[in-house]
This record gives sequence, C-alpha cells and structure tokens, in this order.
Amino acid sequence: MPEISGPGREVVLTGPSRRYIRDVLRMGRGDSLVLFDGSGMEYTAAILEATPRNVTLRILGEQPGDRESPLHIGVGIGLLKANKMDLVIQKVAELGVQEICPVSVHRSVSALDPDRAQGRRERWRTIAREASRQSGRSTVTDVGPVRPFEKMIEYSKVADLRLLFSTEAGRPLELLAQRPAARPQRVFLLVGPEGGFSPEEEEAALGKGFLPVGLGPRILRAETAAIIAAGIVQYRFGDLGGDPRNRPPVDP
Ligand code: SAM
Repeated sequence: MPEISGPGREVVLTGPSRRYIRDVLRMGRGDSLVLFDGSGMEYTAAILEATPRNVTLRILGEQPGDRESPLHIGVGIGLLKANKMDLVIQKVAELGVQEICPVSVHRSVSALDPDRAQGRRERWRTIAREASRQSGRSTVTDVGPVRPFEKMIEYSKVADLRLLFSTEAGRPLELLAQRPAARPQRVFLLVGPEGGFSPEEEEAALGKGFLPVGLGPRILRAETAAIIAAGIVQYRFGDLGGDPRNRPPVDP
C-alpha cells in the first residue's frame, strides 16, 4: 500500500491491494471504502475506476484509526514448525499485538540458517500485514528478526511488565494483575516452543525480571498458549474488554 495523504488526492493501487478490492471484495466504480497505510491514520475513499491492472481511488477524508490498543504488547515465541508459527502470527496480529519476536531456543524443533530466516521473516511479515488489514487495524504488527534467547531477554527490557508463560508456574495472570502497581503500558510475553524452555532458559528469564504466569492445569500446545496468552493480556490490561481508560480502578 503506498503512503496516502490528505483529502482530494488520487491513489492508484496495484498488486495485492488491487486484487483484494476488485477480486475479493468485488468492489467497483462508485463504491466507498476505508484504507489504511500502516501510519495509524484511516482514509475514507471512493473508487473512481477498477480495472484488471489497477484500482484508482479519490481520498475523501482522513482520521486517526481507533482500533489500536493503548497497550503495547510484544510476543516472544520460541521458533515453532512453519505452519504453527504462521498461525500464531496471524492470530496475535488479529488480537492487536504490536510486535512479534521469534526466538531461537535450546529446544526449538526448527533451526534456521540466516538465508532461510530472512525468507521466513518476509513471509511472516506478509501474514502479519494481511491479518492486521483484515481485522481493520490502522497499523501493522511488526515481526522482528529471529533472536537468540539472551538477545531477546535484553531486547524485552523496554517493557514495564514481562511475563514468562510456564507450565511450572502456579500463578494465573489475574493474581498478578491485582497488584496495585500493575497498570502496564507495555507488556512483553514469552511463550516456549513445542518442547518448552530449558530449565536454564527459564531461570535466566526469571533472573532478569520476568514474572512466571500459568495458564491453568492443562499443558497447551505452544500455538494455543501464545494465542490465549495474547488474548488474556489484551483483555486484562488492554482493550479486549473495552477501553481500559474508561474502566474503574482495580481494588488492591
Ligand atoms: N513439556 C513442556 C513444558 O512443560 O514446558 C511443554 C511445553 S508447551 C507444549 C509449550 C509452551 O506453551 C510452554 O513453554 C509455555 O510457554 C506454554 N504453555 C503451555 N501450557 C501452559 C500452561 N498450562 N501454563 C503456562 N504456559 C503454558
């Protein structure tokens, strides 16, 4: 999607955006739609022409997008098999996660050499872009490079709440969330690969300030755990249960 600016301007779309509007949504001349270019703004536009080569639109108005959560969520996920990784990326992008950090860990089933890692990242970014668009978001979930575990721990330090989802942790998120200080702006959550984290990795994460969180008594597949973890964090601290700025304060 090209960068779009102000009302009155004409925009010509080709490639996947053209295909989506003309062939999937089956829209044509005179129809109106809302566009976004990943900048956080939304643009109302009318179709002037839709041909097999391009779709030409006139921008009618612009406004800030209102489907982005005020909570910034980053998801660190141990590298999974290709189709599972694709699923996690698609679903957490729909849930409004801003950033996905694939992590290479001791028990990752799939190891990636640098060339394949670059190719996979391009694919993941396409999946994230499509999922962000389909869920009506005005920004696109970013997918970072594959980082070694220690680098990811360092990278995650910008978050004010860091959660390690572990089958060993008895404490559910709700107990953590009831602490008076728990009003995070930025949360980073970490979920292991199919075989889980090694004890050394769990120890290292906890030693660097991650808080252990459980997801109940059953052992979930890694992809289920990542998606549900993003959902409950968005519900508890973000906007899945309504705009958190309109909620009454939590009793300590
Ligand atoms: N045998 C592995 C273990 O006990 O760590 C199972 C790993 S599980 C299939 C993959 C990942 O999903 C885990 O590393 C953890 O991050 C997350 N997970 C799965 N079930 C969970 C639960 N009940 N509570 C918290 N995290 C869970």
